[in-house]
Amino acid sequence: DLRLARIAEAIRVIPNFPKPGIMFQDITTLLLDPKAFKDTIDMFVERYKDMNISVVAGIEARGFIFGPPIALAIGAKFVPMRKPKKLPGEVISEEYSLEYGTDRIEMHVGAVREGERAIIIDDLVATGGTLCAAIRLLERVGVNVVECACVIELPELKGRERLGDRPLFVLVKAF
Ligand code: 5GP
Repeated sequence: DLRLARIAEAIRVIPNFPKPGIMFQDITTLLLDPKAFKDTIDMFVERYKDMNISVVAGIEARGFIFGPPIALAIGAKFVPMRKPKKLPGEVISEEYSLEYGTDRIEMHVGAVREGERAIIIDDLVATGGTLCAAIRLLERVGVNVVECACVIELPELKGRERLGDRPLFVLVKAF
C-alpha cells in the first residue's frame, strides 16, 4: 500500500529522548501532515469497519489521538484506558511491570459490557506490557479483545511474542 511509505516518512525519530540511548518515535509530526494522518486513520477504519467492533479502547495518551476518529468512523464507542487516578468514577485497574517498578492503567466500571467486541489502540508497541495489561483489564469484564492495533511496532522488543496468540496489527515497523 503506497500510503504506508508516506506514513512512515512522517514519523520523526528523536535520539536520546526521554533518556540516553532511546530513539523516540515521535508521532506529532505525523499529525502535522493531514494527508498522512488521514491515511493512518483510514487504514485502521478499512480494516475494522466490518468486523462488528463496538468498543475502541484507547491507551493514554497517544491512543487518545488515534482512537476517537476510528471509533466515530466505524460506529463504535471510545473507551479511555487511563493512567492511575485520572478517572473520576469507580474504576477497575491492572498493573504491569516497567523496566524499573510498575505502572497501572484504569478503566471506568460500566464503560463496557460482557460479550462486546473490542479493539485496543495505541501509537506504539515496544515490549507489549501496556497492551497486555489493557487486554487483561477488558477480558476481566468479559469483553472479547479482537485485536490490538498500533501505528508503530518496535520488533526488536518482542511485544508481538508477549501478546501470544492475540492478533497485533501495525502499519509501520521501526528498527
Ligand atoms: P510497551 O508497554 O509496549 O513497552 O510500551 C508502549 C508504550 O510506551 C506505549 O503507550 C507508547 O506510547 C510508549 N512508547 C514507548 N516508546 C515509545 C516511542 O519511541 N515513541 C512513542 N511515541 N511512544 C513510545
